[in-house]
Amino acid sequence: MTLSFDITDDQTRSSLGARVAMPAKESLIGLTRLELGEALVRAGVVPERQVKMRVQQLWHWLYVRGVADFAHMFNISKDLRSALDQHFTIARPEIVEEQISSDGTRKWLFRFPPRGAGRPVEIETVYIPEEGRGTLCISSQVGCTLTCSFCHTGTQKLVRNLTAEEILTQLMTARDRLGDFPDRDTPDGAIVPAEGRKISNIVMMGMGEPLYNFEEVKKALLIASDGDGLSLSKRRITLSTSGVVPEIFRTGEEIGVMLAISLHATNDDLRDLLVPINKKYPLKDLVAACRTYPGLSNARRITFEYVMLKDVNDSLDDAKALVKLLKGIPAKINLIPFNPWPGTNYQCSDWETIEKFADYINNAGYASPIRTPRGRDILAACGQLKSESERLKKHERLALEAMMIAGHGEA
Ligand code: SAH
Ligand code: SF4
Repeated sequence: MTLSFDITDDQTRSSLGARVAMPAKESLIGLTRLELGEALVRAGVVPERQVKMRVQQLWHWLYVRGVADFAHMFNISKDLRSALDQHFTIARPEIVEEQISSDGTRKWLFRFPPRGAGRPVEIETVYIPEEGRGTLCISSQVGCTLTCSFCHTGTQKLVRNLTAEEILTQLMTARDRLGDFPDRDTPDGAIVPAEGRKISNIVMMGMGEPLYNFEEVKKALLIASDGDGLSLSKRRITLSTSGVVPEIFRTGEEIGVMLAISLHATNDDLRDLLVPINKKYPLKDLVAACRTYPGLSNARRITFEYVMLKDVNDSLDDAKALVKLLKGIPAKINLIPFNPWPGTNYQCSDWETIEKFADYINNAGYASPIRTPRGRDILAACGQLKSESERLKKHERLALEAMMIAGHGEA
């Protein structure tokens, strides 16, 4: 069942209205401290001698308190607040749609204002609540240049890269909606709670290939993990790549987050078909890059994602080849039951086959590897994301529901 509510009703519009971005003003979200200071001085809003203090203040309001309006920064003078408001924005994207799955998964369709001569773009962000933790799945691009044959996003052309601001505001807007900025309006409470956060983990596993948008993803993740701000531990941030080998080392060196690799096949012939970037960076190079990932240890393993496709990559021989391929790499293996989408020719492996595959992997020393599909009823599961420009038509949605009821791809 899909619970969806219209957030454009009058009441919600008025409460969100002030936060919808105006394209003309520069956003202060997603800038490094240095860039933030430069922007303030350039606009003539803050004199040089105050920059450090103002940057610190703003950083706190933006990333600890999560305010979305300068008017709420009550320890900053009224004059400065209005000067800031004249030149800059800290608005969130517009929320076009918010859906809540029967399993509690939420999916937002966010709209960002145009950049330069471009058009507004829309992307999806997914929140997955679990026992004791909550994970936000963030998008890095609108569409994707890669064309993995089993991925719905891969059928949507790349529109553009997201900026650091747009990557971060997915997290900040999700926290708004989940009530995960509890100290926003309290006069002195300003602590980032270590426990009990709704969003405890983030994964760069939404739309797009994050390593084809390296600089913006890096900026956003360094801010998300900044100890004086959003304070997410780098161990709780996972970046998933289809295998952009030249950027893998830098990811560890410069961002320092956990790495996930979309492996899906153990030989080049099959991987060329499933994940075509393999033709450019074959398995040998990919595995070599993983072996030298900075910080790799038994406590900081690489996650290898493996989508279970019926009669394609799900035999016991494939499981054996997988274990052999990863030998010696501190690894976790994540088996992902294939999530169907309209127009795909793939089917999800039978549950029995997945279990046999998982048993083999478990016996080889890898723990609990099957990823439970979440939010399938609202097309929020892995590889099902696709944005407004190509949203499902009603008959496609019905066809998909029929597929799932018929048991295809149902785990
Ligand atoms: N572009 C990056 C990150 C986004 S995809 C990447 O490819 O790693 C997140 C994960 O979902 C990837 O492992 C991807 O291969 C997988 N995926 C894509 N389509 C899927 C589908 N239909 N069913 C299950 N998993 C899918
Ligand atoms: Fe792009 Fe990842 Fe989908 Fe491949 S799996 S098409 S890299 S989003």
